[in-house]
Amino acid sequence: MLDFKYEVPDTWVEVILPLALPVVYTYEVPARLKAEVKVGCRVEVVFGKNKKYAGIIKTILHKKPSFETKPILQVFDGDPLVFPLQLNFWNWLAQYYMCTEGEVMAAALPANFKLSSETIILFNEDAGEDFTQLSNSEYLVAEALLIRKQLTMKEVHDILDAQHVYPVVKQLIDKRICVIWEKMSEKIKPKKQKYVYLHPQYRDEAKLEALLNGFSGAPKQMELLLAFLYLEKKDGDVVQADLLGKAGASKAQLNALEQKGILQVEERTIDRLATLPKFVEIKQTLSEAQLAALADVKAVFQEKEVCLLHGVTGSGKTLIYVKLIEEVLASGKQVIYLVPEIALTSQLIRRLQVFFGGNIAVYHSRFNDQERVEIWNKIRNNETQIVLGARSALLLPFTNPGLIIVDEEHDPSYKQQDPAPRYNARDAAIYFGMLTGSKVLLGSATPSIESFHNARTDKYGYVLLKERYGDLLLPDVEIVNMATESKYEKAIIGERLAQAIDETIQKDKQVILFQNRRGYNPYLLCGTCGDIPKCKHCDVSLTLHKYSNKLHCHYCGSTYPRLVSCTACGSQNWKEKNFGTEKAEELLDTVFPDYKIARMDMDSVRGKTAHDNLVRQFESRQLDILIGTQMLVKGLDFDHVDLVGILDADGLLSFNDFRANERAFQLMEQVSGRAGRKNDRGKVLIQAIQVDHPVLRFVKEHDYNGMYEYETKNRKNFFYPPFNRIVQIKLKHKNQQKVEGAANKLANILSKDMQVLGPAKPDISRIRNMYILEMMIKLQKGNSGEVLKKVIRSGIQLMHADKMYSPVLVVIDVDPI
Ligand code: ADP
Ligand code: ZN
Ligand code: ZN
Repeated sequence: MLDFKYEVPDTWVEVILPLALPVVYTYEVPARLKAEVKVGCRVEVVFGKNKKYAGIIKTILHKKPSFETKPILQVFDGDPLVFPLQLNFWNWLAQYYMCTEGEVMAAALPANFKLSSETIILFNEDAGEDFTQLSNSEYLVAEALLIRKQLTMKEVHDILDAQHVYPVVKQLIDKRICVIWEKMSEKIKPKKQKYVYLHPQYRDEAKLEALLNGFSGAPKQMELLLAFLYLEKKDGDVVQADLLGKAGASKAQLNALEQKGILQVEERTIDRLATLPKFVEIKQTLSEAQLAALADVKAVFQEKEVCLLHGVTGSGKTLIYVKLIEEVLASGKQVIYLVPEIALTSQLIRRLQVFFGGNIAVYHSRFNDQERVEIWNKIRNNETQIVLGARSALLLPFTNPGLIIVDEEHDPSYKQQDPAPRYNARDAAIYFGMLTGSKVLLGSATPSIESFHNARTDKYGYVLLKERYGDLLLPDVEIVNMATESKYEKAIIGERLAQAIDETIQKDKQVILFQNRRGYNPYLLCGTCGDIPKCKHCDVSLTLHKYSNKLHCHYCGSTYPRLVSCTACGSQNWKEKNFGTEKAEELLDTVFPDYKIARMDMDSVRGKTAHDNLVRQFESRQLDILIGTQMLVKGLDFDHVDLVGILDADGLLSFNDFRANERAFQLMEQVSGRAGRKNDRGKVLIQAIQVDHPVLRFVKEHDYNGMYEYETKNRKNFFYPPFNRIVQIKLKHKNQQKVEGAANKLANILSKDMQVLGPAKPDISRIRNMYILEMMIKLQKGNSGEVLKKVIRSGIQLMHADKMYSPVLVVIDVDPI
């Protein structure tokens, strides 16, 4: 029976929409949905004329608002996706980083949770064509998807001829018939592979031995099993195809072992972790120094929330983390283990798996959406206690974290650049720790000036681990004067380094060479008039890439053919200025034709697993020399590297940014740290022209404190971090006059309350045809700074209120890196 009685709503919800809206919107809850609304659940709402979105309920109200409200259409989730804890955290992130809660939400949620009328859904090719489990509406959409491969929400709407399309789409996502397409991250489809595992019962060594001793008949199966054990020891993960190839065995023989319950086969995407047993015994024992450091960290945590673990490269910080993690797990709490994205190699994952088996989940940007949703749910339901991830892992729905580890805390990649929220996961971790009563451990061999300063001023606890594990000395650093050194072509490698490379490889050791530029030859310079070809859209010098024989813009990706003659003067006298990894690799090949050389940079490790493969090849000594950008610095631990060469220190020292010295020191010290991590002391050769540069002196002496004193003196005088905070405001528009007008207006407004530097042209003043002006504001730390942020917000609103300037894009970056 239909009930026509109109019910006056008595419940409203404030909803966060995945948009850059400054406020939350209020909707009324129809009586039929009243029992379903819970804070943290997604609801379907109309925003604007008729755009539909999935938003998250922030608050439930029982008082009628003073304005008209529209109803929510649907509640998607039975259980909340996020907890009030996350909503508080989002709120802080939005305030502190001057963005909106909707932007934070969009960053936090996996795409499959985000639905809007703009959404496009794709057919999931892995789904097969068995649609028997689907409802009628689901079936209609699935069939259309099967044929057309993708649909817009509008098309789904037309197919169903109904109002509520999202519930149907949500079901299809849950049933894995479709996935959401995200424009920003066109992903490579994950490759699936079959992996072979030992049945968990044989992880017990005595049992395994008994099995091997008691194995009778079937010699082929025995061979296969031995080949498996060998590969597992060598690689960690055993791929079925490799195993069968190696053992010369057949699928039938593998099946036999599977049936006997000795081996298991599982198909999974390459990145994913196997379903391993949850707890594995830790066999390594801590050294005296590690034990002392561990005790010190624990003592710090008695009194303080945050501890900085300053442990030189190779001091064995990982094992200290592992011991702390064990204790937190025993108390039933969760652990968040953050590392820079690129350090999330299978090397680190394998190292940690040895300790925690299947109790550790990995979360990073190369995962596809379904995988992210799985991990999201596991964390939410407390089914996984440890998460190892890049910065966005901090936004997962943790309920009771006990420890947050931020490894390589100095790393600039903890800061998100674009889009908003432009947050620094290290700093956000400290806030999240405070919010949850969780301890935060920052680890680094080269702490950021900010964190070290906080330790100095007693805000954080501080623990120093100044020896390498195994009584090894830090590498011996030698600076080679390239002004007097006799050189090979284009001065890439001097006599001294070439000789050292030779000696090292003759001793059967490996070499790492560092050059912080990719490409073949970063600039082409006209030898007659000095003109440098630039990108038409970005005002950036173009880079010459040899594989394409084209000039590339590293900002917008445009490519240009090589110029024959200079556009400024017509001369054909091109000079190659500076050099990148590609060029260096080529030269190395000619100098050392007999050595096996590989390159690691953004161009050479395009694919999803290329990075890991290179790491593995180098680990298993199939390569003699690895040359690369800072990619090869991060968190890698190789046993046989005796020599590290830094090809062009001057290039590192010449950035015009207040952090240039700090960065140069960190990079050089970290690269140096790859040398001599096991057995013998390593050697580092730094090629430079400015041989007396103070930073080089600090690197030579491994003198972090010296660098800190030198740097902070300058920064204090100029009110830079760590003494003040910086807010950077960028204005962008296609029309130069508009940007200038808007920037001047904003600067005028803000100058009443604070000191504004600029507006000025940044180094790169045009990107993708947008003109850019920037201004910088130095705020005091603490409350007064937070108050001024509010003033900045309203200043921008006031500027935008002027019709002339309303289309000018404003990008705010708090604590820019
Ligand atoms: P860090 O992260 O401080 O640079 P790692 O944690 O990578 O250093 O340790 C350096 C090397 O020393 C690694 O190969 C690690 O396996 C080894 N190592 C550290 N501590 C121990 C220990 N207690 N027992 C055996 N090996 C250890
Ligand atoms: Zn010229
Ligand atoms: Zn460009």
